[in-house]
Amino acid sequence: MPDLNGTNGTNGHYEANGFASRGRLAGKNAIITGAAGGIGLETTILFLREGASVMMCDISEPALAKAVIKAKDLSPHMTGKIATAKCDVAKESDVQAVVEQLDAWGGVDVMFNNAGIMHGDDADAIDTPEKIWDLTQAINVKGVWYGSKHAILSLRRHHKTVGSIINTASVVALVGSATPQLAYTASKGAVMAMTRELAIVHAREGYRFNALCPAPLNTALLQDWLGDDAEKRHRREIHFPTGRFGEAIELAQAVLFLASDESSFVNGTDFVVDGGMTRAYVTPE
Ligand code: NAD
Repeated sequence: MPDLNGTNGTNGHYEANGFASRGRLAGKNAIITGAAGGIGLETTILFLREGASVMMCDISEPALAKAVIKAKDLSPHMTGKIATAKCDVAKESDVQAVVEQLDAWGGVDVMFNNAGIMHGDDADAIDTPEKIWDLTQAINVKGVWYGSKHAILSLRRHHKTVGSIINTASVVALVGSATPQLAYTASKGAVMAMTRELAIVHAREGYRFNALCPAPLNTALLQDWLGDDAEKRHRREIHFPTGRFGEAIELAQAVLFLASDESSFVNGTDFVVDGGMTRAYVTPE
């Protein structure tokens, strides 16, 4: 396994292992929603290290307070600004307020609509409660719509001709999940479809939209749930040609590429980061 070197990885020493800033996002202003979570925090750190100014948004203020300390600690040579804002992406007024805060920085260049939930009561067609369905769509789908809408308005307000919006979907939008989570799966399908259309509609303005499709990751949540149950773990790992789960830092690296001008001709993609999982024909050993 490579030295992934994220905050969940081996040691967090980005610098020592060649992660020093090359300024791939120098001068860009980015908003990251769900910034206190696994993928959001790793992306924040990478963005800071690559010269961006980052507005970290999350619904949880205590989690944000911890995350911003970690982000600063792991980005000692950052050249951009960093700020935090409590924001419920399901509320348009919250999203609008955060985006408008960036007017003082010169407007948004990169919007990472990453906040999302997979509720514990999400189940199959019969057992998913309607309120869980509605909550999931409100955060995972409307949240991405609001983030995209206000990013576009900001880009236009500041007369920008280049912008990158990255919306987090999931591999479950490409393949069904054997463990039912119908509201979540439907929401991520909506994110993918919405992102594709936004990409086409705004292409001539220079605004790119890409959907990120992560496979299940090696997050604390998942690992705690799997515990030391080797059989349960193996049942999942077998789906990965690599034989392992992904790490949040591996998603963050993909987001960095999509955010930067290096991906200037990448638009409307379902950007799959899954170690080949959705390409695998799995047979039990
Ligand atoms: P996470 O739970 O670690 O982080 C999500 C963050 O979003 C949390 O900090 C949470 O407080 C925040 N959040 C929740 N509701 C919010 C709201 N209404 N407004 C603003 N913030 C809110 O999860 P993660 O693994 O970092 O996932 C990030 C994204 O990636 C999600 O959209 C998730 O669906 C998607 N994803 C994750 C995996 C995985 O295995 N971790 C796989 C595929 C897709």
